[in-house]
Amino acid sequence: MRLARIAATTALAVTLAACGSAQKTVDQQTTSSEGALVGVTMPTRSSERWIHDGDNIKKALEDKGYKVDLQYAENDIPTQANQIENQITKGAKLLIVASIDGTAITSQLQQAADAKIPVIAYDRLIRKSPNVDYYATFDNFKVGVEQANSLLAGLKTKGEGPFNVELFAGSPDDNNATFFFNGAMSVLQPLVDQGKLVVKSGQKDFRTVAILRWDPATAQKRMEDLLTSTYGGAKVDGVLSPYDGISIGILSALKSGGYGAAGQAYPIVTGQDAEVASVKSIIAGEQYSTIHKDTRLLADVTVKMADAVLKGGKPEVNNTKDYDNGDKVVPSFLLQPVPVDKANYQKELVDSGYYTADQLR
Ligand code: BGC
Repeated sequence: MRLARIAATTALAVTLAACGSAQKTVDQQTTSSEGALVGVTMPTRSSERWIHDGDNIKKALEDKGYKVDLQYAENDIPTQANQIENQITKGAKLLIVASIDGTAITSQLQQAADAKIPVIAYDRLIRKSPNVDYYATFDNFKVGVEQANSLLAGLKTKGEGPFNVELFAGSPDDNNATFFFNGAMSVLQPLVDQGKLVVKSGQKDFRTVAILRWDPATAQKRMEDLLTSTYGGAKVDGVLSPYDGISIGILSALKSGGYGAAGQAYPIVTGQDAEVASVKSIIAGEQYSTIHKDTRLLADVTVKMADAVLKGGKPEVNNTKDYDNGDKVVPSFLLQPVPVDKANYQKELVDSGYYTADQLR
């Protein structure tokens, strides 16, 4: 698509140069993206991280002089599809999309391509479409590896094992969920095979443990069911949780099941996103850890990408092999996730200015 655009611009330049207006073409090229409208679609306001993402991207784009249409779809796929269509109709010159279902907006992306509107997939890969130009995200496999490492570090504080653990994964329609789970299982599976970790419910495959739309209530129900079906006379020592909202659901189920009361320590529960409620839970000794993904950095990288593309340039990427969307390998920029627990939350979240100390009280 970019090549086509460059070719078109060159053709225009040649034509205008022939008319003796070459200087005008250069001016048009440098100013054509100025003040352009950028469409930004986020999945939901129900999770704090997406609010930060949306705010950060909007501000950074506006600082560069762009206009921004920022929309949230409350996890409803048709709503997100409509929002993208509206942005195309309104004349957006570039789209930044954090998709709900990575395969459900193919026809909208085709419309964007037909109108020569470039698309950046934000945080979540858009799948099964050739019309995704770039991808900005964190190293999602590594997120899973770090979740598993911190689960093991926490279990170590409980003794030698073997330990009873249960596994949760994110939404099956979100490409990231598979990366997180595979990353985690790359660390955990060998220990399961050696009998050092026991998944007592027997529920180990991604489809069985996945939580549609990352819904905390669904996770809570699944944990309640696991306690009833599997942990009558036994204790669960650890729970691999992919996201802080899911961790909160899991912890409520555990609390109702008697964990957290005197002499009944909580299992080690992981998480992701360093959401305020979960950081507070970590400080209170309930959730064990989370993975911090600094949305300020992600917004920054994405806006730099957008700016480069809008000016007809080539954005910086650092991965051109891992994110195959089923149609093409999407050139990506990956940021590094940071594991956070009680020992380092002050340094990573407060000293870094991500949260104020007051927000975590
Ligand atoms: C994001 C995670 C987030 C999850 C639920 C994933 O796509 O990468 O940061 O926890 O969605 O919102």
